[in-house]
Amino acid sequence: MESTTLRAFKYRLYPTKAQITSLDTTLALCQRLYNGMLEERRGAYKKAGKSLTAYNQMKSLPEVKAALPEYTGVNAQVLQDVAKRLDKSFKGFFRRVKAGQKAGYPRFRSRDRYDSFTYPQPSQNSVSGDGKHVYLPKIGNVRIKLHRPFCGKLKTLAVKREGPEWYAVLTCEVPRAEPLPETGSRVGIDVGTTWFYVTSDGEFCENHRLFQASSKKLRVAQRSLARKPNKRSNRRKKTKERAAKLYRKTARQRRQLHHEEAKKLISSHDLICHEDLNVKGMAQGNLGKQIHDVAWGQFFQILAAKAEEAGRRVIAVDPRFTSQRCCICGHTERGNRASQANFRCLSCGHTENADVNAAKNILSKGQAFVAQRISTETACHEKPRLSGLG
Ligand SMILES: [Zn+2]
Repeated sequence: MESTTLRAFKYRLYPTKAQITSLDTTLALCQRLYNGMLEERRGAYKKAGKSLTAYNQMKSLPEVKAALPEYTGVNAQVLQDVAKRLDKSFKGFFRRVKAGQKAGYPRFRSRDRYDSFTYPQPSQNSVSGDGKHVYLPKIGNVRIKLHRPFCGKLKTLAVKREGPEWYAVLTCEVPRAEPLPETGSRVGIDVGTTWFYVTSDGEFCENHRLFQASSKKLRVAQRSLARKPNKRSNRRKKTKERAAKLYRKTARQRRQLHHEEAKKLISSHDLICHEDLNVKGMAQGNLGKQIHDVAWGQFFQILAAKAEEAGRRVIAVDPRFTSQRCCICGHTERGNRASQANFRCLSCGHTENADVNAAKNILSKGQAFVAQRISTETACHEKPRLSGLG
């Protein structure tokens, strides 16, 4: 295991009007450069069957600057990073093609789809000593709000636009945390709509109804948007901004809660088993809206990242029959499910809360997996991930 890991810290920026203009200009120039370089790569390939590399394209940046003087207003490393970013999307494309997966050729990005630029080698003193400003070369000292401290060696500094708001994302190299002491506890969790999750220990974690309040507001805003068909009206624009703001707020709250719930599970269990849900597939059904609301996909991802940091294991198991199987005798029949809430085994008579019974089955499937160490790609989430983003 490596001794360091990358962690991202995201902070709100409060640029002045003049700074907003330069931020917007920088983004627009980066976006044009990105599309220009993509065009160049396509052309080189079509004409000569040649592949250009990020290095080739970086070398031609001085020519770009000579021809288009506005580019001298953008930090050189930021421009180089655009070439690297394009290179990354090509590498991803070729990797997927090679693996026989569905792969889309890198696409041109519209202004709306190009919302960040990166300083790949920022100064360690980018954030001022009092923590109130961040220095962005060619833009200036921009006011920043460090709502929590960051730590480690600053590796990259990205500037991101989200609607009318601006953020700085500081990616830092931090020492890997000491693995948490073993607890000797293993748990299965069954996620649902009535409860956020239910554990094999019989613990019920509440579904955060808080979102329902904000998502109701969001729905109201969206409906009101639909009633204003004139795309150029000012009122429509205002409503749209309000809806986007609400959406961002809801997403932030949800993320925060997912972090808290994941932390709780990680601190008390060595092994956590959950269903390998095809969340997308389920979201198409009746429960769609609510499932979408709790966004388990994100939760499982956060859980896996935290587990990795803490030296815990998270296993996603095939969920089939976990709700119909009796956790005592193994008898599996649809009729065992007496009602949505109650399980009653038709063979041995065992009765239990249906979700707890399912969670117990999920745990035993996970334990069987650990015992046999069957390594299938879908059964195990143990990839390193960038944690803490957002
Ligand atoms: Zn039974």
